[in-house]
Amino acid sequence: MPELARRCLAPVVLLVAALAIMAPAFQGGGYALRLATLAAIQAILAIGYQTVFGRLGLLSLAQGAFFGIGAYATAFAATRFGVDASLTLPIAIAAATGIAAIVALPVLRLASHYLALATLGLAQLALLAAVNLEAITGGALGINNVPGLELGGQAIARGWPLMATCWALAALVAVAAWYRASGLRGQAMDLAREDPVAAEALGIDTRVLRLKAFLFAAAAAGLAGALHAHLLGIVSPEVLEFPVMVACLSMVVIGGRFSVAGAILGAVLVVHLPEYLRITGAWYLAIYGAAMLAMILFAPEGIAGMAGRLVRRFVPARTAPLPRPIAPPAPQRAIGAKPILALRGVTKRFGGVVALARVDLKIAPGELVGVIGPNGSGKTTLINTIAGLYKPDEGTIRLDAEDVAGARVFKVARAGVARGFQAPRLMDDRSVLDNVALAVRDAGAAEGRAVYWLDRLGLADIAHRRSGDLPGGKRRLVEIARAMAASPRLLLLDEPAAGLTPAEQATLAATLGDLNREGLAILVVEHSVAFLSALTPRLVCLVEGRVVADGPAERVIADPRVVEAYLGGRERRRA
Ligand code: ADP
Ligand code: MG
Repeated sequence: MPELARRCLAPVVLLVAALAIMAPAFQGGGYALRLATLAAIQAILAIGYQTVFGRLGLLSLAQGAFFGIGAYATAFAATRFGVDASLTLPIAIAAATGIAAIVALPVLRLASHYLALATLGLAQLALLAAVNLEAITGGALGINNVPGLELGGQAIARGWPLMATCWALAALVAVAAWYRASGLRGQAMDLAREDPVAAEALGIDTRVLRLKAFLFAAAAAGLAGALHAHLLGIVSPEVLEFPVMVACLSMVVIGGRFSVAGAILGAVLVVHLPEYLRITGAWYLAIYGAAMLAMILFAPEGIAGMAGRLVRRFVPARTAPLPRPIAPPAPQRAIGAKPILALRGVTKRFGGVVALARVDLKIAPGELVGVIGPNGSGKTTLINTIAGLYKPDEGTIRLDAEDVAGARVFKVARAGVARGFQAPRLMDDRSVLDNVALAVRDAGAAEGRAVYWLDRLGLADIAHRRSGDLPGGKRRLVEIARAMAASPRLLLLDEPAAGLTPAEQATLAATLGDLNREGLAILVVEHSVAFLSALTPRLVCLVEGRVVADGPAERVIADPRVVEAYLGGRERRRA
């Protein structure tokens, strides 16, 4: 089966299931048509929520509020100014998105449970406003006589036409959501969700991703709220109450939070389930609750997740031949001796621990510098501070002429600094090729460039393997390939030889030597002095956060302070 068909299989099955559930509507029942219309509206709400809660993993509890805000904006505009849906829909979308934009800046900075609380607070505020601002909202009674959906003076009749219009809009939102999350864009979102630090280290601005998802979700909710107001003809504080949010959450959890088609099926199910379960009478809520629990326990990725797993199991992927390697543009040769990186007096404290103490370090363009030092001497902190993960308490870090001390990680990455982590941070569920391609900034060349780096690091034969299945040494090489795929000018590596077999160490040393000769500046932290001294003429030794020696390798190794630190360190570890 061609790859595209294979990828569409699960979504198509889910959408057919959704159609089957709505089958009574096609037999023309008025009530069934109304349910199918409601399902379209809820699907719009859920698709929006899927991007923010599913793809980006943000537990926003304001999606219901944006729905209510859209509904009120529509009711207000339609009843006060008599405008039709060609204006009420944009007004509702603008109102919901506008309020989302205002709260986004402070709210999206918060960590998960605080984000949930803050967005819940916003929802409470919106409800309070609806009940109390009687002049605008009609208070507890709400706004009556909202006209039906009308576009450009043309009334859209209830029943078939209205249902078709709502589903057409749902399809538009679905395509937009799917497009936003397709290919490398979706992978960037996945990495931003699973490991924001690793994402930023690849130059991905995770805050902008979150902001865009939050606004997209709010826009979809506003649209859904507007349609809801037109359909029901009345808007009361109920649209801002918590059950709207709970239903939205259920739809996405049941359907599958990583899938647009899943969100649609979830919406159709949640709208229709009460009808189908009506025969169970008083048992309805118990059955509903039990189904929800079972879902979360046994299929945490929802129906879409289950369907995806079945497809992977029974329709094996044909491994496509690797695309042809695309060599990166030749690195600019360094002219002059201005350092590419210059640290001056950099101090970093963690509470009482001084991890870096007034560190001075310069790296010339195209230079390879090895950093040694006993455990806990600040080597990893040095890399993290240069990469922007930590803001130094004192001192400056210049990349070329720019002071990047405290700049955000993605900015430092985009300025040409790539890094590996002491423990490789890959997307375990993705292939090696996907992991490396994600780092390429030139999206058109992503796979070809990735293949080029896999070739160079001797990884081409495992390009299609799942990264999580690889042994530690290979994971490290994949991470280096990924770092190189970003076309850096400066590469920071944290103990890259640890966990590698002697053969892999030799490949790594040869590759680093080649890259360096091609003009890449490299800073390698390594515990193994042997590995480093074969690689570079210049070593820097850190002890307790201080640079105690910096110069030609043989001199640094012989330095009494270095010998003392290393021997002392070894004895301490043995004890
Ligand atoms: P190395 O990589 O040379 O083994 P590190 O840079 O990891 O050393 O650590 C240097 C010192 O800073 C250690 O004492 C360590 O405990 C401390 N340290 C490092 N990172 C943190 C952190 N995020 N929070 C608190 N202390 C830290
Ligand atoms: Mg370390």
